[in-house]
Parts: sequence; structure tokens; C-alpha cells
Amino acid sequence: MEPILVVFSGGQDSTTCLMKALAERGPGLVHTVTFAYGQRHALEVELAEAIAKEQGVASHKTIRVDWYRDITRNALMDKGTPIAWEPGAATPNTFVEGRNALFLLAAAIYAKGKGIRELMIGVSEADYSGYPDCREAFVKSMNQTLNLAMGCTFVIHAPLQHLTKAQEWALADELGCLDYIRARTLTCYEGIPGDGCGKCPSCKLRAAGLEAYLRLKGARA
Ligand code: ZN
Repeated sequence: MEPILVVFSGGQDSTTCLMKALAERGPGLVHTVTFAYGQRHALEVELAEAIAKEQGVASHKTIRVDWYRDITRNALMDKGTPIAWEPGAATPNTFVEGRNALFLLAAAIYAKGKGIRELMIGVSEADYSGYPDCREAFVKSMNQTLNLAMGCTFVIHAPLQHLTKAQEWALADELGCLDYIRARTLTCYEGIPGDGCGKCPSCKLRAAGLEAYLRLKGARA
């Protein structure tokens, strides 16, 4: 098994990725990187650091991209902008332009210096919320770009790529960390960890997926 660097935000998706990487490779081979890019809630970065520490990863790095806010605007970074998201609508105003491309590039640069060639990111296009950089085509293209840019062979793993939120909860349960992820991670746009505010689009998606999975599990039992 090779070492791997997980792009880690402390949310449900990336924590599920982290747990999968840990289960498959053991903590000695799993590294995490978190980006501080001026998200609404500074707690997100602290929480990611805390989870990484709790899980005993080989190393954790926070990369500051403070300048991101100077060049783009969106509801995730602007506390004053209300979150607007209509299912089926075009890109929601929480979309951060170029985020996954920027993060993967920075993660790959950092990984290369540490002798790591495998990267993991928790993007999913199943519950597609209009984020173009969550699509498989983007991940594949970015992988090629990184290889060409740095003259080596990276492998980007996106294990949630085709999983719905319900399937993601099922994976967490399989990994024995459903309760941990439910209680510890932060996906809420209002910055409330665990089950969150219950009202924002992110909380609704997370809760609907959990409910669907628990219903299915109950039916099977
Ligand atoms: Zn919420």
C-alpha cells in the first residue's frame, strides 16, 4: 500500500473518505490537507484539524489561501449573502469558482514534496447540486493535468463519485463510523456541526440521505 493525501474539510464527504483511506491503509499511510480559504465558519478548519488528530493521521497540514476571497465572491465566503439554492436550478450561489481545481493542484504540489502520489477527494456527482468541478470528467481531466504539469503519475481517488448521500451513509456504516460522522462532522451552511441547523440545503440533503439509508436498513433488519 502506498501513502495517500486526503483533501479534508471536516465535512461528511471528506470524513467518509478519510475513514475509508484509514480502513484500507492504516493511519501511518494516511495524510490530510485542509484549506483555509475564508469560508464563513472558521470552525470548519479547526474541526478538520481536530478530527485529523483524533484519527491519528500520519500528518495534517492546513494550507492558507487567504487571497481567494480577493478574487471571487460567493455565499460560502460572504457571511452577509444569504444562501440561495433551488433544486434543479443552475449553479447555486455557494459554488466557489475553481475550488476543486485549486485544491487538487495545491494538494498535488504538497504531496509530491512528501513523496506521495495518491490523492483522495470527496466529490460526488450523484446528488449533483450543479457544481461542475464535482463531475467525473473534471476529476479525470485534472488528474491528467497534474501528471503533465509535474511530470509524474498521480492517482486521484474519488470514492464517492457515484454514491448518493444514502449510499454514502451506508459506506460510513460499513466502515463502522456512521455515528462518529453524524456527530462530529460539519456540513451545515450555518456552521453548526452534527445534525446542523436542519434547514439549509446542505443539512436537508444530509438528513434526507440519512433517513433514506436508515429506512432501508430498518427494512432489511
Ligand atoms: Zn444547516
